[in-house]
Amino acid sequence: MERVTDSASPHRGQNKILVSACLMGYQVRYNGSEKAQLATALARWQRERRLVIFCPELAAGLPTPRPPAEIVAADGDKVLQARGQIIEITGRNVTAHYQLGAWLALRAARENGCIAALLTDGSPTCGSRFIYNGSFSGQRRSGAGVAAALLRQHGIAVFADQQIAELTAWMEQRDENSM
Ligand code: SF4
Repeated sequence: MERVTDSASPHRGQNKILVSACLMGYQVRYNGSEKAQLATALARWQRERRLVIFCPELAAGLPTPRPPAEIVAADGDKVLQARGQIIEITGRNVTAHYQLGAWLALRAARENGCIAALLTDGSPTCGSRFIYNGSFSGQRRSGAGVAAALLRQHGIAVFADQQIAELTAWMEQRDENSM
């Protein structure tokens, strides 16, 4: 699987949300697991076909499972400016793969009319409030991963998986404004 979308919509014109595939139960994380805790919370939007379910790392051709990777002493914005690197725990430089995944996520969001994204925090791709610091020792730092940073740069509101209530309120406001 390279890309998972659920975007064919009978509700054309409705605001849509790009969602990390692992949050919807797809086993696409580096260790082959998922983080399915949000599938129930997002069920209404999924019924309305307003979710675009996407994994940037898979879309960029990375396999599952794959070695864990971290942004080294930088954040997603710096990686996009070629001022930071993403390295696997093996030492392999995978910066280009992750940059590609970010651009593919942006393309998917734009093509499907997403105004917001709900992404898995902590990931070097999808993290939006924190990432890991590149030492592979579990140490967090504030900052975003490459896809979250790129989406924000292009005007898409990014929410972390712990911010479902904030996203819901934000979307209700946007839906009211666009009626
Ligand atoms: S956090 Fe993002 S890149 Fe990582 S498995 Fe989930 S959707 Fe894919």
